[in-house]
Amino acid sequence: MRLLVLGGAGYIGSHFVKKAIEVGHQVVVIDNLINGHIEAVDSSAIFVKGDILDKNLLESVMKKHEIDACVHFAAFSLVGESMSVPNKYFYNNVTGTLSLLEAMEKCGVRKIVFSSSAAVYGSHKEMPITEEYQHIPTNPYGETKLQMEKMMHWADKAYGMKYVSLRYFNVAGASLDGSIGEDHNPETHLIPIVLQVPLNKRPFITIFGNDYDTIDGTCIRDYIHIDDLVDAHLRALQYLVTKNVSNIFNLGTEKGYSNLEIVEVARKLTKHPIPIKIGERRPGDPDKLVASFKKAYTILGWKPTKGIEEIISSAWGFHKTHPEGFGGKK
Ligand code: UDP
Repeated sequence: MRLLVLGGAGYIGSHFVKKAIEVGHQVVVIDNLINGHIEAVDSSAIFVKGDILDKNLLESVMKKHEIDACVHFAAFSLVGESMSVPNKYFYNNVTGTLSLLEAMEKCGVRKIVFSSSAAVYGSHKEMPITEEYQHIPTNPYGETKLQMEKMMHWADKAYGMKYVSLRYFNVAGASLDGSIGEDHNPETHLIPIVLQVPLNKRPFITIFGNDYDTIDGTCIRDYIHIDDLVDAHLRALQYLVTKNVSNIFNLGTEKGYSNLEIVEVARKLTKHPIPIKIGERRPGDPDKLVASFKKAYTILGWKPTKGIEEIISSAWGFHKTHPEGFGGKK
């Protein structure tokens, strides 16, 4: 297919682009490079620097390259930041998606795979979370993802725009060949931050809160390897082509790890003591997020293939060989 990948220079987008090209898709990437890295974009993709808010640009690219489907990763995605600057999130994520849907409608592009989030669910007591759970986001980031999904739902009703929304739990790890990985500046995600300690980039890691209602008091998250996540996107595209119906799937592993357990696995794999300090809770954090992937398995035939050790060791492989990430270059 001819795919337009919005946000294809970011962490998840760039891994998707690499794999999509490997399996034979033609890929055009649009990325504003605010968080993305041009070095992460596969050299076989056509790269256009631009913003999803620029509807004219989207339309001209869709027409010029006769795009069949969009894969939408372009969003701000930091829970903590979204609590302090919610308008930035609503403007970029929601308005950006509106611009994309308008351009798609105008150009007759009627298939989209969307990068959604576990953050749409908010706090729940019973794990694992299925797609039927109530949506009560605890932060503006999750709220924007929910609104973006709703916009797609109504675009389907009105224009027959078919979408698959993939609600990611915690994505981590790196390409197994070590060529690309996670590089945010500043980094805020747990696994890359933990690995900054053995890289001598920070003396310890602060764990945000140890008074949650969990086994050891620290938050529990469900970590999914980036390659497994990418595989689900390819299946979602195939599903749109063969079934032509919209749907929503959780992507996780049904296994939760506490923040302290993650540090423990990293200590074992890096053979570094990785000191910790306990800090305040991070505002907006739900205590537990663990996915049921039953629906994705039943309908897409998808299941996770990599566990926490492969996730952390592949991330470690990337960070060891790219201690400065992509060199801070844009
Ligand atoms: N976390 C932490 N210290 C850090 C970064 C993250 O304790 O320096 C915690 C965070 O509060 C959450 C978990 O690690 O409980 C996962 O956070 P991350 O930002 O990686 O992903 P999120 O779950 O917010 O998408």
